[in-house]
Amino acid sequence: MTYKHTWVSGDGIDLPVGKVVCVGRNYAEHAKELNNPIPSEPLLFIKPSTAVTRFERPIKLSSERGEVHYETEISVLIGQKLSDASEQDAVASITGIGLGLDLTLRDVQSQLKEKGHPWEKAKAFDNSCPLTGFVATKHLPSLDDINLKLYINGLLRQQGNSSQMLTAIPALISQISQHFTLLPGDIVLTGTPAGVGALSTGDELRAELDKLCRFHTRVTD
Ligand code: ZN
Repeated sequence: MTYKHTWVSGDGIDLPVGKVVCVGRNYAEHAKELNNPIPSEPLLFIKPSTAVTRFERPIKLSSERGEVHYETEISVLIGQKLSDASEQDAVASITGIGLGLDLTLRDVQSQLKEKGHPWEKAKAFDNSCPLTGFVATKHLPSLDDINLKLYINGLLRQQGNSSQMLTAIPALISQISQHFTLLPGDIVLTGTPAGVGALSTGDELRAELDKLCRFHTRVTD
């Protein structure tokens, strides 16, 4: 199944699917729960376009690679090329806001971190980035007040608000564009709030973006 960006209505968005630039430890409470120091500048990594899949598609666990953790994050769809962009240009480039899962092979990541190796094997694997449809920013109150929630099997497991981000969305996109040119169709994943954990076969996930949208998926083996 080929992934294409869509609006939450299901209508397609005429942008290619590019890279996904992610930020680690952008919520203090999440850095704490994994015993990680709070970084002095955004800790960036990239998932390739082959990591992107539709949120509703069931998540398949691979038994050989250890625990797969969910990290629920606000996703930003970039609509214009950005290089060394100001915060104003960064905001102007935002086409839509949605939710994404930064699926993480946590055991693999711990081993890589111990050795001081890059995280790609733990973060950039195929289908490691399920994305929901997008909402146009005009439907959201403010970039600084976006709520996200994740329920697993009916229990609230993650809850955050973009106001809690260590680097807010405009500054984050601007800073990313100083390292990597962002192209139309690229995605920025803005970090996960506390409450991450391992997925198990049979889990039912419900993610909420503000009061606007609910998205469902489940875990299979
Ligand atoms: Zn993440």
